[in-house]
Amino acid sequence: MSPVRVGILGAGAAGAAAAKTLQAVSPEVQADVFARTGEQPFNRTLVNKGVAIGLLSPEQTALPETGAALVSDTVRGIDPRARQVHIASGESRTYDGIIIATGSRPHTLGEDVLGRNDALATGKLTTLHSLTDATGIRDQLAALPGSARVLILGAGVLAAETSSLLSAAGHDVALISRSTLPGTSVFGEHIAKKLLDLHQARGATYLGRTIQAVRTHPDHISIVLDGGDRVEGDLAIIAHGTLPAAPSPWNGPEGIPVDDRLRLRQAPDQRIYAAGGVAIHEHPDLGAYRIDHWDDAAAQGAHAANTLLYDHGLGDDPGAYRPVSTFTSSIHGHILAGAGHPTPGSTARLISDDPTVVLHEHAGAPVAATGLDTVALIHQWAPRLHHQHTQN
Ligand SMILES: Cc1cc2nc3c(=O)[nH]c(=O)nc-3n(C[C@H](O)[C@H](O)[C@H](O)COP(=O)(O)OP(=O)(O)OC[C@H]3O[C@@H](n4cnc5c(N)ncnc54)[C@H](O)[C@@H]3O)c2cc1C
Repeated sequence: MSPVRVGILGAGAAGAAAAKTLQAVSPEVQADVFARTGEQPFNRTLVNKGVAIGLLSPEQTALPETGAALVSDTVRGIDPRARQVHIASGESRTYDGIIIATGSRPHTLGEDVLGRNDALATGKLTTLHSLTDATGIRDQLAALPGSARVLILGAGVLAAETSSLLSAAGHDVALISRSTLPGTSVFGEHIAKKLLDLHQARGATYLGRTIQAVRTHPDHISIVLDGGDRVEGDLAIIAHGTLPAAPSPWNGPEGIPVDDRLRLRQAPDQRIYAAGGVAIHEHPDLGAYRIDHWDDAAAQGAHAANTLLYDHGLGDDPGAYRPVSTFTSSIHGHILAGAGHPTPGSTARLISDDPTVVLHEHAGAPVAATGLDTVALIHQWAPRLHHQHTQN
C-alpha cells in the first residue's frame, strides 16, 4: 500500500508537533513540512526572551528536526478541493491530507494613526513577532549610548513580559494601554491589578488612553495620545495581540474555522485540518475563540495529526479537542501561570488570595485558571477544565 502523503503548512509549534505525531507512524505516512522561504523553523517564544534582549542569536532559537521532510518554500495558496498546495517557487503538490499550521501575524497600528509617517520603516516603531523584529530591537538598543526609554503599546502577556525583560535589562519602560486595567479579560481583575502594581513600581503607565498619532524624529519617537499629550521614547514596541495568518483562500483576518476534531468546519470530509494560532474554534456553547500559546498550539498540532490518522484508518478517534494546556511567564520576578482558555464571555472568580488563583468560568463550568507564583496549583486545575463543554 502506498503511504498516506500529508502536507503540513507551517513549521512552528503546531506544525512541528503534527510532524512528530505523523513520523511515529512512518512509513505508512509521509509528511512534508513547509516553512517560509529561507526560514529555519524556530521557537517563537524566544523572540522576546532571547533574541530581542541579545541573550540568544536567531540561530539559537532553531527547533529540533522532526524527521519529516522540510520544504523551505512559502505556501502561496491551497486548492482545498484538489488538496493541492501552491508554493512560491511555482511548484504545486497534491496531498492525501493537509494540516494548516501557519500561525498568526501581529496586529499593528491603523493607517489613521500611522498616517504618512512611515514609523515602522525607521525601526523606532516595531512589532515583536518575528526574528527580524527581534534583531531590529536588539540593534536599536545596542546603538544607544546608554539605557533606552522603551514605550510598550499593549496590555497582554507579551506586553507585560517584554516590559519586565527590558526593565530587568536596565531600560526605562513605559506602558501605554487603552484599558484602564490591562489584562483583566485574560487574567481576571485580581491578577491584572497585581501585575499593574508590579509594573508601576518600575515604570510609567498611561492607562485608558488611545493612540492618536505616531511621530518619528532622528533620535526619538513620540506617541501622541488622546488630548494631545505626547510620550517620548527611543523605541516603541506594538504588543496589540495577533490575527490568524492563513494562506489563500483563508488569507483574511478570520482564520480557519475548525470543528471539535480540528477538521475544516465547512467541509469536514475534505481531509484538511487546522491547528494553532490560525485555527478558529467554533463551539455551540462557548462561541468562537482562538488560542495563541505555544503548548496549546503544539497540542492542537498533535490532535489534528491524530484526527487525520483516524480519518485514514490508521488510528483511533482522538475525541474532541479540549484547550487545557498550561503556560507560564516570568513578570518582574513573579511567575504568571495559566491553564485552559478563558473563552469570550467567561467570568473570573478569585478562589485563593494567597497564593492568588483566579478561576474563569463559562456558564458555571471551569474553562481556565490563572495564578501568580503558584504553578503547581494551576497544573492541578488543567485536567478539570473544559469538561462540560466537550462534545464527544
Ligand atoms: C515574542 C513572542 C513571545 C511568545 N512567548 C510565548 C510564551 O512564552 N509562551 C507561550 O505559550 N506562547 C508564547 N508566544 C505565542 C506562541 O509563540 C504562539 O502561540 C505559537 O508559536 C503558535 O504556534 P503556531 O504553530 O500556531 O505558529 P508559529 O509557531 O508561529 O508557527 C507558524 C509557522 O508557519 C510558518 N508559515 C506561516 N505562513 C506560511 C506560509 N505561507 N508558508 C509557509 N510557512 C508559513 C511560519 O514561518 C512558522 O514557521 C509568544 C509569541 C511571541 C510573538
